[in-house]
Amino acid sequence: MTHEIIVIGGGAAGMLAARRAAEGGARVTLLEKNDRLGMKILISGGGKCNLTHAGPMEDVRAKFRANEARFLKPSFYRFTNDDFLKILHDRGMATYVRPDGRIFPVEPANAKDVVAHLTDYVTEAGVSVKYGAAVTGLAMDSGRITGVEAGGKMLKAERVIVCTGGSSYPATGTTGDGWKWLAGLGHTLVPLRAALAPLYLNDAEPDWSGVALRETTLRARSGPGGKEFMRWTGDLLFTHKGLSGPTALGVSREIAERADGGSAVEADLSPTQTWEELQTDLRRQMTENPRKTAASLAAPFVPARLLEPLLASAGVSGETRGAYLPAKSLNKLVTAIKGWPLGTVRHVPLERGEVVAGGVSLDEVEPQTMRSKVIAGLYLCGEVLDIAGPVGGYNLQAAWSTGFVAGEAAAQA
Ligand SMILES: Cc1cc2nc3c(=O)[nH]c(=O)nc-3n(C[C@H](O)[C@H](O)[C@H](O)COP(=O)(O)OP(=O)(O)OC[C@H]3O[C@@H](n4cnc5c(N)ncnc54)[C@H](O)[C@@H]3O)c2cc1C
Repeated sequence: MTHEIIVIGGGAAGMLAARRAAEGGARVTLLEKNDRLGMKILISGGGKCNLTHAGPMEDVRAKFRANEARFLKPSFYRFTNDDFLKILHDRGMATYVRPDGRIFPVEPANAKDVVAHLTDYVTEAGVSVKYGAAVTGLAMDSGRITGVEAGGKMLKAERVIVCTGGSSYPATGTTGDGWKWLAGLGHTLVPLRAALAPLYLNDAEPDWSGVALRETTLRARSGPGGKEFMRWTGDLLFTHKGLSGPTALGVSREIAERADGGSAVEADLSPTQTWEELQTDLRRQMTENPRKTAASLAAPFVPARLLEPLLASAGVSGETRGAYLPAKSLNKLVTAIKGWPLGTVRHVPLERGEVVAGGVSLDEVEPQTMRSKVIAGLYLCGEVLDIAGPVGGYNLQAAWSTGFVAGEAAAQA
């Protein structure tokens, strides 16, 4: 029997769902409010698109929080990172793995090309794509989905797959619409929180904007005694309002979740050495070259623009030569390099996040099929669910896998 399926939202999850449902023999209509598909994919990875993450799916899955990882298990095994890459490879797009495991198209190909390939992938399977089709609600009768409302009309469908994404970067079309309808029909929403978002600091240094620190560990602390609760190693970027880059994004969800606020962040500028190793190293340099200044001892750890502020934070004059640098001052310099206080976090802007944490409770969705346990005929996939992985291609993989499984199951059911 041929099913009539409507897929709402032509992003990462929706495109995979629509294609798979059509392959399964369903008559599929994909409704997208924008005039093109995959708007968020276009801006992903800074326009380069970090497609997914390399390695066994068990390892990819393990990067998610425990409840999310449990939920993702069946879909990650049903549709893997390699399965997704094959779609692009079969279309002639080459991809490469960075040393950190992140996978990108080989340049000059970029996110635009990814979207172009995926748009063909959807349309050539016979999916009817409607652009400028903003869905305004879901229709239900006796606990079963019957269709969707769009443009003041009711469009009937036996199965509906909701892939409306999250609510960050609303200009890309994701304005949290799906959550309103789903909550109205009885689904539980886990409260929304920022994730993979920049950090706005109380005393940001706009003058430092644009400066980047490479291979830094950013640590977040809070509470009495400043207990560390999260850390992330990678690049750190100073912005007008505070901090961005993978490290800031990496600690943002945990900071946003802390009700007490006032989280402080500090940068370890030499994460591969212990405090003692660094002290020994700097002391050796001073002994070997007593004319070396404190500034030149500290210079390898920060770009020139930040050298003075780092020394000021340590309370050490950059001019002081090694021979005259008291042991106490050297220790203060080591302490500053190993944990440079960058200030307290004022705000983690949800709308600037790469993903939003929270969404439809995973308890209410069947992980093998993405079928709603609350409403018959309804399927949910992608960021509309309470899933938020780390930076590294994990979130797109979650969208590809859950979308594929939802499309397959909806066509079969
Ligand atoms: C700046 C940025 C960079 C990112 N970079 C990466 C990266 O490099 N790698 C990675 O893995 N992840 C990245 N992400 C995250 C990734 O883009 C998302 O996790 C992923 O797109 C979620 O897929 P989705 O299909 O659930 O939602 P989306 O891709 O957001 O798609 C949702 C679609 O639903 C449509 N829609 C919404 N409401 C309606 C409605 N009422 N009617 C009709 N259509 C509707 C939207 O227009 C949109 O097209 C990035 C995100 C951002 C914001």
